[in-house]
Amino acid sequence: PYDGPRADEILRKRSEFLSPSFPHLYQKPLNIVDGKMQYLFDEDGRRYLDAFGGIATICCGHCHPEVIEAIINQTKRLQHPTVLYLNNAIADFAEALASKFPGDLKVLFFTNSGTEANELAMMIARLYTGCHDIISIRNSYHGNAAGTMGATAQCNWKFNVIQSGVHHALNPDQYRGVFGSDGEKYAKDVEEIIDFGTSGSVAGFISEAIQMPNLHAFLMGVGGILELAPGYLPAVYRTIRKVGGLCIADEVQTGFARTGSHFWGFEAHGVVPDIVTMAKGIGNGIPIGAVITTPEIAQVLTGRCYFNTFGGNPVCTAAGHAVLKVLDKEKLQENALIVGGYLKDQLKALQEKHDIIGDVRGRGLMIGMELVTDRTKKTPAKTEILHVMELMKVDFLRIDMGVLVGKGGFYGNVFRITPPLCFTKEDSGMVSEQKSALLHSSSVAPFPIFAVGCDEERILIIISFNTDFFVDVMDIALSKL
Ligand code: PMP
Repeated sequence: PYDGPRADEILRKRSEFLSPSFPHLYQKPLNIVDGKMQYLFDEDGRRYLDAFGGIATICCGHCHPEVIEAIINQTKRLQHPTVLYLNNAIADFAEALASKFPGDLKVLFFTNSGTEANELAMMIARLYTGCHDIISIRNSYHGNAAGTMGATAQCNWKFNVIQSGVHHALNPDQYRGVFGSDGEKYAKDVEEIIDFGTSGSVAGFISEAIQMPNLHAFLMGVGGILELAPGYLPAVYRTIRKVGGLCIADEVQTGFARTGSHFWGFEAHGVVPDIVTMAKGIGNGIPIGAVITTPEIAQVLTGRCYFNTFGGNPVCTAAGHAVLKVLDKEKLQENALIVGGYLKDQLKALQEKHDIIGDVRGRGLMIGMELVTDRTKKTPAKTEILHVMELMKVDFLRIDMGVLVGKGGFYGNVFRITPPLCFTKEDSGMVSEQKSALLHSSSVAPFPIFAVGCDEERILIIISFNTDFFVDVMDIALSKL
């Protein structure tokens, strides 16, 4: 049991000593003290099914034992020798990670975050091409340092930044965009930007495969799980390469098996980028980011000293290596495909029942559900989504478990469903357990448990798997609007 400071005390300290820019997801902020696979636990030991996964960061599951073991073993041995010496953790991870990429993508640079990775990627593109102009897509998020804040294309995330040489192309948004799902029509805008907004050549183009980033301080958000219209990326990549630019894929959220059909989001679009950036899922919660490119492009840093104190730190790279092994061993990409597809179908069925659900979209365990008060006008249901989120965290089914889900989209009206990739699909079943074993393990059992009867020795329980539970809770919450 947790006996540390309670939510009120933490909130007081947070208001006094921490940045005023941190938003809270709930009216009464949750004090989350433990995590186990797809579950989080608050200060009272109350369990939540985590359908947000630390904003698509937790891929293997919270505190996955094998990732923890790798971190502990490396921490005991050596934490920080500096990259100026040799160490096997960084080299082994680089080799394993490079093997996950197509084409000639095999030279890695490690960073501490997605922002740094994108800053470095844009710098490499600028050095390689000798050009300064970068094109990114409206509504995208690429980070919060000077260059990446410039490339990020949404007013909520630009704070008086000097945006040098950045152009924002039309968003190939299949739900609200002017050309619907015709990716090639949106791609024309990139040609026009080059023709009319630059000297005729660019350093590069950067985009996510599915836009989905963070909450804004006023509980708006960018992204909103928008999958780029089909045909868009191949057409844009052709255009960019014709004028000598490099194509950068920001895989900070879509990478590491989350989209199920592929290990990387760009693969679903049939393209191979020149540079790929990663963070979030790469370390399952440990701060690490990376950039990969080809040996030819990487040459631009030969003779230049790009130095990053903690980038490639052995503890972080040991964690990253363990994550790759767990993803493979537990077949989490396949799980994301099957469970995500099943969940999306269930949510689409829910759309038939609730008029407020305007769209259900996404890939694998990266699903968006957009709430609108009018399906024709697509009026964002900004207030309603907040009510549903609050309701979902309540223990409706009286099994001592609520559901945590994310929210985003330019209007803040899109549910972002990005659980740890160990979410389960199977239908409810019945099991009988030793009472004592259950008592000891109940706070970490891998599924919600309904006790339906017991005797001295044994307890009969029903186990309900994650997707069904999630959909039931969402259904009840939507019905209460
Ligand atoms: N790119 C994308 C697509 C992201 O979602 C984020 C983080 N939300 C970033 C870049 C920046 O990553 P970080 O917060 O680790 O700097």
